[in-house]
Amino acid sequence: MRQTELFSKTRRDAPKDEISKNASLLIRAGFIHKEMAGVYSYLPLGLRTLNRVVAIVRTEMENLGGQEVLLSSLQNADLWGKTGRWSEEAVDIWFKAKLKNDSEVGLGFTHEEPLTNLLTEHRNSHKDFPFYIFQIQNKFRNEVRAKSGLIRGREFLMKDMYSFSRDESEHQKFYEKVKKSYLKIFKDIGLPDVFLTFASGGTFSKFSHEFQVVSMAGEDTIFVDKKKKIAVNTEVCSDEILKDLGLSKENLEEKRAIEVGNIFNLGTKFSEPLNLFYLDKNGNKKPVVMGSYGIGLGRLVGTVAEILADERGLVWPESIAPFQAHLLVLGADKKIKAKADKIYLEFLKKKIDVLYDDREVGAGEKFADSDLIGIPWRIVLSERTEIAGKLEVKERKTGKISHISLNQLFKKFNE
Ligand code: ATP
Ligand code: MG
Repeated sequence: MRQTELFSKTRRDAPKDEISKNASLLIRAGFIHKEMAGVYSYLPLGLRTLNRVVAIVRTEMENLGGQEVLLSSLQNADLWGKTGRWSEEAVDIWFKAKLKNDSEVGLGFTHEEPLTNLLTEHRNSHKDFPFYIFQIQNKFRNEVRAKSGLIRGREFLMKDMYSFSRDESEHQKFYEKVKKSYLKIFKDIGLPDVFLTFASGGTFSKFSHEFQVVSMAGEDTIFVDKKKKIAVNTEVCSDEILKDLGLSKENLEEKRAIEVGNIFNLGTKFSEPLNLFYLDKNGNKKPVVMGSYGIGLGRLVGTVAEILADERGLVWPESIAPFQAHLLVLGADKKIKAKADKIYLEFLKKKIDVLYDDREVGAGEKFADSDLIGIPWRIVLSERTEIAGKLEVKERKTGKISHISLNQLFKKFNE
């Protein structure tokens, strides 16, 4: 894409009311627009990165055997009444509204109820199980604190998966598989230091599990065992549980962290009240055993922005960068410009994602913007590089500069 065609512009300052580092940088670099506290729109650069995160997560969900659906955001109050989750005492983050006929509706903050309910029309024999369903969809939560940019939104993109098994042991097998695939997702995205964390489990199991990234911007406190790569949440950090998990207090460090994913044993908490039963081999009626598995997709974009940025701006891992290469042409020389145009077209032909800074602005501004946007590789064409007969390539992450020929450049991106 040509930068002269990109409608978003970089800016020196974030909005005055923006206190989070990730949102400030993402707004300044033109990735997102702030609508109000906790509500952000994605602009072309931001959407490219978000879509890459989505693609990594979707692939992994499909590898787990998940079938994708898209449930409605508008929710029927009666249905949620059946599990007791419509009341303000049970759930205080609903966005509720009324239809013209005065009946109540809510905007989905999660989707256990409607999914369980609709499945009663499709699955009722032991032969129908197990199966897994996921969606990638905006959730709405009237959060009290929304000061962490994309890390805590009032409207945000989530991947939620739900598993439906015949019994506890069948459920547990899948639950363990999800743990592994979550760790793979965070690794593929390029997040360092993700800890599998033990958190409180609710009625149906001792623990739930969270995936936490150590960061001062986090809203959670965890105790990490660096060697074992696991952690415990504050609420379960008792002597008894530590002993249970084979952890000892001396090896634990207290850290602030961001929860990027969360997996839950739901047992029959939803299947019983919503009537999702099956007939086993002997014709006995049994409730379905469920699990739920969330990942904050917008939160992941915010977390990567927050954690990997340096004093000059964003630093994207190659796996989720909006573009792989940022091609900069400096000066007004027509011949050099024509050569840069040709390189740009060659990139397009080779299907390498490139942002081409073809604007007529000074070198300083181009360099600063390139650092702010954070594309992994910066390629410079200028009078100086023409004389040297080599292009200048800078790695955003390390700042390392090298000089290579055109052939070497295309080879590098074709690998
Ligand atoms: P938190 O403890 O941060 O409030 P949660 O435990 O309520 O989150 P879940 O309901 O399990 O979260 O949602 C699944 C995932 O969605 C979370 O692990 C997180 O990554 C993401 N998420 C939750 N709330 C938000 C939010 N307000 N903004 C962005 N992402 C969120
Ligand atoms: Mg949580």
